[in-house]
Amino acid sequence: MYLGKEVIHNIFWCGGMDSTYLVCKRVIIEKKPIQTYYLNFPCDGYYPPYPLGRDSREVEVKVMDKLREMIIKQFPYTKSLFPRTILVDEFPINKEVYKKLRFLHENYQYRYRPRSQELYMIQYSLDENKIFEYSLEDGMSLGVDVGYLPTAKLLKENFTEDFTISTEKILELEVFKNIYFPIFETWRKDMVEESRKYDFTNILENTWSCRWPKPNGDICSGVVDYDDENIDCSHFLYVEFDKQPQSEIEDGFVRYYKDNEYEIIKRKINYLDILND
Ligand SMILES: [Zn+2]
Repeated sequence: MYLGKEVIHNIFWCGGMDSTYLVCKRVIIEKKPIQTYYLNFPCDGYYPPYPLGRDSREVEVKVMDKLREMIIKQFPYTKSLFPRTILVDEFPINKEVYKKLRFLHENYQYRYRPRSQELYMIQYSLDENKIFEYSLEDGMSLGVDVGYLPTAKLLKENFTEDFTISTEKILELEVFKNIYFPIFETWRKDMVEESRKYDFTNILENTWSCRWPKPNGDICSGVVDYDDENIDCSHFLYVEFDKQPQSEIEDGFVRYYKDNEYEIIKRKINYLDILND
């Protein structure tokens, strides 16, 4: 939303590392007003016939509340910039939008399934007729072993200097016209470095990315079995496993590489440790 000089940054937030970094970049570093949004319904494509729809929604909402509280306490000037997250209820998908996404899926390997949270983000941005920021980060282009997403490749190939997606080569990409990708050229290593510089590494350490936490609050094993399909959980996505001892990862110490250099942070492996901190 652009109001004269004052820009309110609309951000899709989920309490994970990338979107939380974007929130911190806007309110802590740039001191800009934001509005955060959370799609509060099964929207990740894992619902019937995949009955594993993001079990972690309730956890994510609580983690976001906690992170917001921590940010405002630590950086009091952010209070007026940072209203509570808008929890969005399910809404219908326009047929034409779905068709374009299916086209991108079938012709350019866009997403594993055409129906996904990105479809809902796109539809929501079009319905609201506002610019939304989506925190895809650059490390995804590292390769399939570290959670490479075909989506990232397609978008990367059509990425513009203005952090938008060009429709020059593929007209169907126009569905992204209201979505910006402000950290698509930022690596997680860069995020950790910036957070040290501005003193919010503790915020990144309290982000949560596991979609299928165990009943005791621990992160899942990393892979969820359903029928013949193994679904990778995103909680350790973009970690270069071969470069880091497994035991270190299990304790939550995560190295974020950029080439051979890395930054390490200790992420929480039980969400109750975040909520009760
Ligand atoms: Zn997990």
